[in-house]
Amino acid sequence: MQNRRDFLKTAAFAALGSGVALNSMLTSCSNAPASVNVNTKTGLGAKMKLKFFPYELKLRHVFTVATNTRTTTQGVQVEIEYDGITGYGEASMPPYLQKELGTLESVQAFLAKVQGIIGDFDPFQMEELLTHIDTLSESDAAAKAAVDIALHDLVGKLLGAPWYKIWGLNPEKTPNTTFTIGIDTPDVVRAKTKECADQFNILKVKLGRDNDKEMIETIRSVTNLPIAIDANQGWKDKKYALDMIHWLKEKGIVMIEQPMPKTQIDDIAWVTEHSPLPVFADESIQRLKDVAKLKGVFSGINIKLMKCTGMREGYKMLQLARALDMKVMVGCMTETSCAISAAAQFSPAVDFADLDGALLIANDRFKGMEVVKGKITLNDQPGLGLTLL
Ligand SMILES: [Mg+2]
Repeated sequence: MQNRRDFLKTAAFAALGSGVALNSMLTSCSNAPASVNVNTKTGLGAKMKLKFFPYELKLRHVFTVATNTRTTTQGVQVEIEYDGITGYGEASMPPYLQKELGTLESVQAFLAKVQGIIGDFDPFQMEELLTHIDTLSESDAAAKAAVDIALHDLVGKLLGAPWYKIWGLNPEKTPNTTFTIGIDTPDVVRAKTKECADQFNILKVKLGRDNDKEMIETIRSVTNLPIAIDANQGWKDKKYALDMIHWLKEKGIVMIEQPMPKTQIDDIAWVTEHSPLPVFADESIQRLKDVAKLKGVFSGINIKLMKCTGMREGYKMLQLARALDMKVMVGCMTETSCAISAAAQFSPAVDFADLDGALLIANDRFKGMEVVKGKITLNDQPGLGLTLL
């Protein structure tokens, strides 16, 4: 039996071959809702063309993580054009992850390779195309994600539907996004927390330093909002980590991300087993092949498109984690609303979302997923729901 996607594809080719308009074929078929708007411009001989250019993301505030401080993030914007329709994608390469994700130079070199071959592929055969692109190099995850995201935007536009709808997800079920309160002096933390408490329903705090308790007490002096913790591998002793988690539970913390270094697998498994809060993998996971290995080590995984090569693999990771009875969160780098909207498409199916990346930049190129009263809000525009600003 044909599934719906095959039907659309076959119908598209049948329509092209016979000159019959595809929309009228769909509306005359009792299985097809009349509202499905399949693009009928798609002509024989159309070929995908890929363009890319560097786009430096300007951060609204100085960004400090354990290892560095910065005011910009390097990025590359990608556009795939097919028969007059453009799909948008992007790569974001924070400096501390360039080994895994790529540099400005390596991303552009990889995209130049894709530029040379993409015209030979049919945009609807994403499995084939993205599998092939993955074989072009061992790493280059962010460049692969940029192509994947642009292709999803394009194909969604060609099908006339947003991806959450193609995946069968309910846009009402999107979660609240966390918003990170940066480490700073108590006065600054109190002021920032007060400001954020009015706009968000869950906060995120990065711990793993010697002032962890002070930081939480400072935030708790102004708000009782739920808090997600990212320890960024900062706790080195398993008993200390577990004691901290018990203390944090008493303080209204709801989840813990990467409590210990990724090399300490057995210690993490012990902490997770005894932890009163769910424990999520971030530094310990990159791609689909890593998920099954983490069953029994963590309660859940953090899926980030730039690390896992994009929406196709990210969605597979989500489904595999669910099959393994694991929890799922979706995270991001500093990104424009393009990659953030891409990740938001499967957010109705996750337990936690950390998609504040576009709120942190001053030069967003797009309007897309919006955070409304702290909640991820998806629009009904096709593809990723993007409007170029
Ligand atoms: Mg993290």
